[in-house]
Amino acid sequence: MSKEGDEMELYLLGYGSGIAGADLGSGDGPLKMRQSAYMAAVEVPIIWKDIIKAPRNKSVDESVTEICTALARQAADLTRKKAMFTVLGGDHSCAIGTWSGVAEAKRAEGDIGLIWIDAHMDSHTPETSETGRIHGMPLATLMGHGLVTLTTLLGRLPKLKPENVCLIGTRSYESGEAALLKRLNVKVYFMDEVKARGFEEVLAEAVQHVSAHTIGYGISLDLDGIDPIDAPGVDVPEPDGIRAVDLEAGLANVVHDPKLIATEIVEFDPQYDEDEKTEQLVVSLLQILTKGRAHGHQA
Ligand code: MG
Ligand code: MG
Repeated sequence: MSKEGDEMELYLLGYGSGIAGADLGSGDGPLKMRQSAYMAAVEVPIIWKDIIKAPRNKSVDESVTEICTALARQAADLTRKKAMFTVLGGDHSCAIGTWSGVAEAKRAEGDIGLIWIDAHMDSHTPETSETGRIHGMPLATLMGHGLVTLTTLLGRLPKLKPENVCLIGTRSYESGEAALLKRLNVKVYFMDEVKARGFEEVLAEAVQHVSAHTIGYGISLDLDGIDPIDAPGVDVPEPDGIRAVDLEAGLANVVHDPKLIATEIVEFDPQYDEDEKTEQLVVSLLQILTKGRAHGHQA
């Protein structure tokens, strides 16, 4: 373990799969980051876990179940060790693995919360989804609505209670998923509200919301939540998003919170990046997420 004054190391878990997304290219995101020269700017030591790859010759449902189970086991292990870790996607189906692992590792202590920063709701079920893509379903799945093989990862109970979840930056969604979130009474900060109040204020309020009845929380960041001007390297860009500078300022305010358990940065598709903007932004976010976190984390 780290001595007083030492920086903690950062574990990076790569989910190298885009099979549940809009473009297979997001599966190349973690490898691109592992090879990125910019990563040298992250000041804490980085420990890369093996990048998880989808098996061949299996259905998408079977494959996602298999790789999310593998990811969930790693996330649970690191959560129990109180390690600092970030999951790098890959399509957003990885969230099912990440937060199932964290929730099950913390099950005996209490509930966890989750902040979902994304242009989209990702709250479809197989019944409401027009595309059938699981990257549009992870939040509903984590709340117990979805494919049973995925809602029961590492344990049969739902991983998140709706009152401990909130979404930020939402601006593109379908009626079926919106109806589910409304029925479950999940807090949604639509992009209009984020613009009116400012991201920092909204994030601070969101942290209160997901902390109120939990023992800790996570942040899942879909890069398409950010304005495509700042993060073009995504498969489903949506204009008028959160500006990178605002996201960075907001995260810098909350990163020292001892209740922040883990983070996730997903949907980076290197083939659509422009001038390495998205690649550099991911590094900048990792710098912010790790800076001075050794003392506060999981105290
Ligand atoms: Mg999205
Ligand atoms: Mg998403």
